Parts: sequence; C-alpha cells; structure tokens
Amino acid sequence: MSRIVIWVLLIFAGVMVGVVIGLGLGRTDAGRLIDERRAEVVGTFASAYVASQTEVDEREQVKTVASLQHIDVEVDQPAPGVFRAWGVGNTFLIPTEAGHVLFDAGLGTQSARQKRLLQEAAPGEVTHIILSHSHADHIGGTKFWLAEFPDARVITHAKFLDGQTYLKALEQYFWSRNRLLYPFMPESPPEEGFVVYGGVAPDIQVREGEVLRLDIGGVTFEIIGTAGAEGEDNIVLWLPESKVLFSGDFFGPLFPMVPNLFTLRGEKFRDPLAYVRSLDQLIALEPEMVLPSHFGEVVGRDAILRDMRKMRDATQYIHDATIAGMNRGESIWDLMRTVKLPPELALSQGHGKVSWNVRSIWEHYSTWFHFESTTELYPLQVRELYAEIAALGGGAAAFESAARRHLDDGSPEAALHMVEIGLAASEGHAGLLDVRLDALNQLLTRAFRDGSNYSETGWLKSRIAATEARLSESRSD
Ligand SMILES: [Zn+2]
Repeated sequence: MSRIVIWVLLIFAGVMVGVVIGLGLGRTDAGRLIDERRAEVVGTFASAYVASQTEVDEREQVKTVASLQHIDVEVDQPAPGVFRAWGVGNTFLIPTEAGHVLFDAGLGTQSARQKRLLQEAAPGEVTHIILSHSHADHIGGTKFWLAEFPDARVITHAKFLDGQTYLKALEQYFWSRNRLLYPFMPESPPEEGFVVYGGVAPDIQVREGEVLRLDIGGVTFEIIGTAGAEGEDNIVLWLPESKVLFSGDFFGPLFPMVPNLFTLRGEKFRDPLAYVRSLDQLIALEPEMVLPSHFGEVVGRDAILRDMRKMRDATQYIHDATIAGMNRGESIWDLMRTVKLPPELALSQGHGKVSWNVRSIWEHYSTWFHFESTTELYPLQVRELYAEIAALGGGAAAFESAARRHLDDGSPEAALHMVEIGLAASEGHAGLLDVRLDALNQLLTRAFRDGSNYSETGWLKSRIAATEARLSESRSD
C-alpha cells in the first residue's frame, strides 16, 4: 500500500522519538522490554496524532489509505490457529508446537504494540518471520521480533533486497513528493530511531514462481514468490490444509481492484504480465479465505475465485488493448482516453487507475520518445516558452478569459493549460488563480465521481490548498 501513510507516521516518530529512544534495543531482556514499551507509548501517540490529522473524506466511494489511520491496533482470530494484530499494516501470528510463524511485521510506530498483544494472545518462540515485501508498513517491526528471537529465520522474495535498497536510495526523493500531498511533514525522513527504514537481511529467499514448503509442528506452510500489485518482491503464504491465503499487498489495499501498476508518488513500474501469471498461480489454489495485510479478510471460495479472475482478466485486457492500439499507431494520449474496461470487468479504481496504467504500459514497452515531435529529443520544454507565448497571445487577461471559456465548456484540463501559460507571464495573477481553483475543484468532483482514486484526489486537494494560499497572498499584496 501507499508509502504516503508510512512517511507521515515515520516523521513523527522520527522527529519526536528518534532522538528520545535511539536505536538501543536493549541487550538484556529487561532492557529490550523497556525499549518495546517506550516504543509502544511513543508510537501510539504518533499514530493518534496522524489519525487526528487525516480525515476520511465523505465524498470517497471506497475505503482508502486514510481509512487505515483510524484502525485500532488490537488482536483477533480470523481463522482457527491464526492471530491477527490489526493496524495500518496487519501482522499475523500462526502458533505451532514447534515454533510460531509471523507473517508481516507492521508499521514501525505500531509494531511494538502489535507484538505485545500478539504475544499475550499466543505466547511462545517465533522461529520464522515471513515478510510479504519491502514496503515500510510491512517490515517495521522486524527488529523488535528479532531482538527477542535472534534465531528466527527471515523469509523474503529474492528481490526483496533490491527493493529495500532502491527505496532507501531514493528515500529523500520519495519523501519530498509525499510532502506535496501531506504538507505538515517535515523536510527529511528520520535518520535515527526504531522507525528508520531498511536494514532487514533475509535468511531464506524465494524466487519468482517458486514454492518453499515448510512443515512446522504439524502445519504445512507454502511460501510462494508472486510478483504483485505492489511490486516485484511480493511473496504470499498459503496454508494448504485450511486453504487460507495470506496475501500481503498482492492484491493491493482493496480487493478486487484495478492493479496499481503506476504510483503517483513514484516507484518502479509493476509488470502486468508478471501479475497475470501470479494471479493464475493463486487462482489454482482455490483459497477459501484471503487475509490481506491491509483491512479485513475476504471469505468464500466462489467469490474469491470470481474476483481474482476478474482482476486477472482486467489486467490482461488493459495490457492487450494498449498493445493493440500501439500497433495500430494510435497515440498514447488517445489510448489513455479510449481504453476502458468492459462492464463485466469493471473494478474499483480507488488505488490503480486504468488510464495511468495504459500510459505506463505504453512507456514501459516504448520508453519516453513518443515519435510526435523532434522537440521530444531535447531538454528544452514548451513550458519554458510559456511567458513568450503568453505575451504573443495577449497577456494574462487573454489567457484568463480563454481558460474560463474552457472551464465553462467542461474542460478543466484545457483551462489548466491556459492558466499555466498565463501565470508564466504574470505570476500570482488573481484572476488566473481563481480559474485554476475552479478547474481543480471541477477535477476533484469528477475524480470522486469516477472511482475516487486516492492518489488523484490527494494530489488535487494539495493543489487546491496551495492555490488558495497563493490566492490569499496575492489578494493581500
Ligand atoms: Zn502496504
């Protein structure tokens, strides 16, 4: 799921906690326990603060990332022999007589509490820690569990380390982008404390398509390497005897949904054909329960199969329609407009979005040269000529009325282009900013109506806030 949430949580822990607690997970049991309790207190405070800053918008038609902030950390038993600690990212504990198996380790700020509650419900030694993928909301508690059970074997996908390395390398970059969506974040990610991202070293790695079978205390565990909706380093856990699938973020935060091949916050493209292969592999298992690492369980073999097939067919459809259009010589922009899922494959676009997937597939196969203009080959952008274009076109006032006309004709996108040209000539022009505000609000209303894509609405809201701020500044000038 989105790292936005994670960043938001990390900051507070980073700023308020990092300095207080440091990395010193105690060497003695008593020291370790004190560190865990402190982490729980500060983490609970940080979670409550972020929840208070993150309202769930009533216009949203689907559960979104904001809803995750309001989940209380508590433990239940969704299936016999399975304990779940709820949170932004869920953590699961499967006790056996020969050792307990952990699936996912939650978000850093919530993981100490999740650990304590799980251990109260099912005390015993943890021998295996399975991490569904390298996102911070799934690996945050690993260091707490390993501090108590240093011999536990950490199991990940073979590409986990690649994922962790590149997310760490680009940490500041992704952080800055997320700050646009969450302006109250401080400038930099935490550099010390228990919420620092990374540092997980796997003991056992599972390759793509491979099945690692473990028999522990009479329970069969199958760990399967399956590229997922949230990255190529996704693994899932399958319990063949009870037909329960622990999916991590394989499906994304909503089930079923259009896969999020492209994320607005920036991250590597997710290969749709690898995802289709993974879905086929999981469909063949015929799960009776899916336990995702975000939100609650999905139950019922027939409904699960129907929805997994729908996700597979929709992903294949978007891919094939894009390829066919490319071969017909259609432009990327036309394909973004025209490729739509047929009604029988309609799925939530609350997280992934069809038109963005189309563009990502196009550019994944063909990279960035669209064969539309020689100017694409050189760094000079038309944007750099906007001030000149605005002067030639009659200045800010002319672009303001052109923008207003487009807006009245129901094309907020065209209005925004006109506004941007006009503002290049007259930065802070109140009339242009007014049109921009109206155009953004029109786009937001449309985004809520057409699937409530969380990234899209988040972006538009942040631009609306920035425009309002600039507008009041320019009126007080
Ligand atoms: Zn996630």
